[in-house]
Amino acid sequence: MSLDLTNKRVLVVGLGRSGVASALFLKSRGAHVTVSDAKSQDQLREEIPALLDQGIVVETGGHGDRTFQNQELIVVSPGVPVDSQPLEQARPLGAPVIGEIELASEFLTGPIVAITGSNGKTTTTTLVGEILAKGGLKTLVGGNIGKPAISLVDEATPETAIVLEVSSFQLETTRSFHPRVAVVLNITPDHLDRHRTFANYVDAKARVFENQTADDFAVLNSDDPTCVELASRTRAQVFWFSRKREVEQGSFVRDGNIHFRRETSDVVIMPVSEIPLKGGHNLENVLSSACAGVLMRCEPERIRDAVREFKAVEHRLEYVATIAGVEYYNDSKATNVDATIKALESFPANVHLILGGKDKGSDYITLNDLLRQRVKCVYTIGAAAEKIESQIRGQVRVVSSGTIESAIKRASAAAQPGDIVLLAPACASFDQFQNYEHRGRIFKELVLALQRSSRTPSTLSS
Ligand code: ADP
Repeated sequence: MSLDLTNKRVLVVGLGRSGVASALFLKSRGAHVTVSDAKSQDQLREEIPALLDQGIVVETGGHGDRTFQNQELIVVSPGVPVDSQPLEQARPLGAPVIGEIELASEFLTGPIVAITGSNGKTTTTTLVGEILAKGGLKTLVGGNIGKPAISLVDEATPETAIVLEVSSFQLETTRSFHPRVAVVLNITPDHLDRHRTFANYVDAKARVFENQTADDFAVLNSDDPTCVELASRTRAQVFWFSRKREVEQGSFVRDGNIHFRRETSDVVIMPVSEIPLKGGHNLENVLSSACAGVLMRCEPERIRDAVREFKAVEHRLEYVATIAGVEYYNDSKATNVDATIKALESFPANVHLILGGKDKGSDYITLNDLLRQRVKCVYTIGAAAEKIESQIRGQVRVVSSGTIESAIKRASAAAQPGDIVLLAPACASFDQFQNYEHRGRIFKELVLALQRSSRTPSTLSS
């Protein structure tokens, strides 16, 4: 039974992409909608016209004292902390406070595959979407990537499989969200600036299981100790994936092939050598995706086809160019230390690593072993540079570079044929860029400009 919104007074807090989509959806279902955001009218000039056109009331530059009063439902964007002052004040007034994923799940009636974890969500969500579509299911993909979940509602039927990337912030505001398959890829410290403690962050992730029953599935990483502990917090049937050992139930590698085992059956899905993505972490993404695919009843042969045709998602260990024998990779989405570790593990040696940006309360000391073993030089950029330098001092050569331009210039001057220049900054981007996509695009543009300028006339004419 979906929520009746007719004539309900609903407040949407935060005008990110999911906030705008929620407001328009709520209005289309007959609600009286107000939206409120701390940003100024000028900062929101792109979002506001479509809302006003629909007769939605827009409040900018902060939330007035009365905005939260007399509302029957409050839909909060993932960017707004659940313990922020306006929400704390609103709660005693009685209106339920939910997020956009929860709102969407009230209306999505088909089976949901939810993918969460600290790293690999977008890659895995995209791949699962392609597996299910190849497997013959009508499939829609969204959530934290692509379209917000609420924008899928009008297109979805009860038969549509919905693949959703869900973040810890989105899970904090769910109530009835109920995935048929919940995949938790890994849990490593991230967003501690907002969740405060690792335990809170794990609790937020565990909410993905909240409404699952014994008919549902949890797909968990058997190589990740925190995921192993999570197994006791779900009522769903647990399937494991591992790149290190053979699991009793789930997907794993034996003799160079990916297998899926369940009770007495054991099927080969594909050779590992056919995976077109770099790095052991991407093997984990493929193992978890294949497991989810089988649980959604896709044929192994179709899973294999989807994986073989898959291309790295932009800004995820994306190959950019080879210039004078040096390979350049854009991993701008490596916004935390663990993703940077995974990127470094994908290259055996001779890496020139660009690190830095906006710190998220991270511990960069955990990079030191890999820095000593695989990295020739670190080029620091952005606001976190000083902290990073103090934590990696003495382990590796470090060049304070300030900006990404200067880092690329210095790295390209120092790199020898066979070396790798890698942007895997372990930090958020907001100190110098709009977002990680912007940072990745600038990196690629600068590398491609370097490539053009390095071409000799004879190369150009050939
Ligand atoms: P998310 O959506 O969780 O941020 P992405 O697929 O966008 O995940 O990848 C984010 C970063 O993490 C990239 O730098 C990518 O190379 C790296 N990464 C991808 N998959 C994994 C994984 N399974 N474990 C660790 N790091 C990963």
